[in-house]
Amino acid sequence: MSEATVDLVIIGSGPAGMAAACEARAHGLSVLLLDEQSSVGGQIYRRIEEAPADILDVLGKDYAAGQRLAMEFRESGAGYLGGAVVWNVTTTGVVDYVANGHADEVAGKFVLLASGAMERPFPVKGWTLPGVMSAGAGQIMLKGAGALPTEPVVLAGCGPLLYLLAWQYLRAGVTIRALVDTTPQSAYVRAARHVIGAARGWRELLKGIKLLSVIKRRGVKVYSGATELSIEGETLAEGIAFVHHGKKMRVPASLVLLHQGVVPNTQLTWSTGAEHRWDDDQLCWQPVTDEAGRVGNTSVYVAGDSRGIVGANASAVQGRLAALAIAQHLGTTRDAVRRSSGLRRELQRYTHLRPFLNTLYRPLDENRIPTDEVLVCRCEEVTAGQIRRYVELGCLGPNQTKAFGRCGMGPCQGRLCGLTVTEVIAEARHVEPSEIGYYRIRPPIKPIMLGDFVG
Ligand SMILES: Cc1cc2nc3c(=O)[nH]c(=O)nc-3n(C[C@H](O)[C@H](O)[C@H](O)COP(=O)(O)OP(=O)(O)OC[C@H]3O[C@@H](n4cnc5c(N)ncnc54)[C@H](O)[C@@H]3O)c2cc1C
Repeated sequence: MSEATVDLVIIGSGPAGMAAACEARAHGLSVLLLDEQSSVGGQIYRRIEEAPADILDVLGKDYAAGQRLAMEFRESGAGYLGGAVVWNVTTTGVVDYVANGHADEVAGKFVLLASGAMERPFPVKGWTLPGVMSAGAGQIMLKGAGALPTEPVVLAGCGPLLYLLAWQYLRAGVTIRALVDTTPQSAYVRAARHVIGAARGWRELLKGIKLLSVIKRRGVKVYSGATELSIEGETLAEGIAFVHHGKKMRVPASLVLLHQGVVPNTQLTWSTGAEHRWDDDQLCWQPVTDEAGRVGNTSVYVAGDSRGIVGANASAVQGRLAALAIAQHLGTTRDAVRRSSGLRRELQRYTHLRPFLNTLYRPLDENRIPTDEVLVCRCEEVTAGQIRRYVELGCLGPNQTKAFGRCGMGPCQGRLCGLTVTEVIAEARHVEPSEIGYYRIRPPIKPIMLGDFVG
C-alpha cells in the first residue's frame, strides 16, 4: 500500500462533495475526491454526465441542474477516483479504500465526509418479500440504467422522494395503480405552525405542490392517511393491505415501492468515534460538529445530508463552507469572512422549508417500530419480537443485541437496521432513543475482500 498526501480528501461526489472540491480548488488546495460509484453525482445527480436526453427529460430540471456542478467539478482540477469504496477514516486524516480490486491509502491534511443520505427503513409485515423495494432503489434503476417497471406499481409511504418518483414514473409512461400515502391529517395541522418559514422557501414549496397536482390530475388513485400497512403474499408480493378512513383495503400489486424519508448515512462518522446526538425532529442520529462541519478538534469535517438532512442545494453550500474553513486553517484564503457570510445567507434560504417538511412527513410510529413478527435485521434475520425478548433478558442497547443474536452483524454492518433497533429498544425500555445509543461501528464499514490486500 502506498500513502499519497493531499490537502483535502473528500468522500462522496454528491452536491456536497463536488461543491466542496470546487471551493477548495478555488482557494488553491490539492484535492482528491473518492466515491464508490463509478461516476460523479451522488444520489440526486446519479450518472448525470452520461444521462441520455430522454432520461434527462423524464427526471426533470432539478436533476439536469447537476450538469453545471459536475462540469465545474471536472474543470476545477480536483483529483477524482470513482469506484473507490472507503472502509476506514482516521481522525488524523488517513483514508483507506479499495478500488479496482486493490487496497490503497491516502492521507489528507483534512478529510471531508460527504457520504450523503440513505432511505429510512420501512419495516412492516412483508417488507422483505420479493417484489418489494424502496422508492429510492426504483429511482436508482431509472437513473442508473433507464430501467422502468413494466407492470403497474403501487407506491406507499410519505415524503418528497416518493412523490418525485411518482411524477418521474408518470412522465416515463409507467402505470401507477395507487399511491398509498401514510401522511396523517393531523400532520398537516402540526406542520401549519411552520408555514411562515415554509413560505420563505416558497420556490421549493411550489415545486412540491405542482408535483402533487400533476399526480392527481393524471388520475393516480391516492389513498391519504393510510394506516396498518402490510404487504401481502407468501413467497412474492401480491398486494398491499391498509386501512383507509376506517375501512380495510387491499390493492393487488407485484411491485410495491416503499419510502418514508431519508436519514444521514452516519457509518463513517460513527466509525471515527465522533459524538452523535439524536435529532427528534428528523428521528435519526446526527454527528456533532461545529458550524463549519468540523468534528471536535480532529481533521475531519462533515457536510451535506450525512450531517443532517438538508437537501441537495443546502448540501452543496455546506460543502463550500467546510472547504472554506479548511482553506482558512491552511492559510490559503484572504476573503474567507466575506465569502462565508454570503454562503451562510444562501444556506438559510435553502433550509427555510425543512421544519415544515420534517413535521409534515414525520413517519408514523407504527411504520418505524414494528410488531413482533416483522424482520428488523435482514442480514441475520432477527425480528422485532426477538429484540424485545433480548431486552427482557437485560439487553440495554443495540450493541448488546449483537451478542444476544448477531443482530447488525451481517454484510450491511447495521446500516439498514440500526435506527429501528435503537427505536425498538427505546420503546421496550420506556426511555428516549438518545439514552439507547447506536451500534459501535468499527472499520471496515463496508464489506471488503481479503484478496484486495494481497500484494
Ligand atoms: C436513494 C436516494 C435517492 C435520492 N434522490 C433524490 C432526488 O432525486 N432528488 C432530490 O432532491 N433528492 C434526492 N435524494 C436526497 C439527496 O440524496 C440529497 O439531498 C443530496 O443528494 C445530498 O447530497 P450529498 O452530497 O450530501 O450526498 P449524496 O448525493 O448522497 O452523495 C453521497 C455520495 O457518497 C458516496 N459514498 C457514501 N459512502 C461512501 C463510502 N464509504 N465510500 C465511497 N463513497 C461513499 C455515495 O456513493 C454518494 O455518491 C435522494 C436520496 C436517496 C437516498
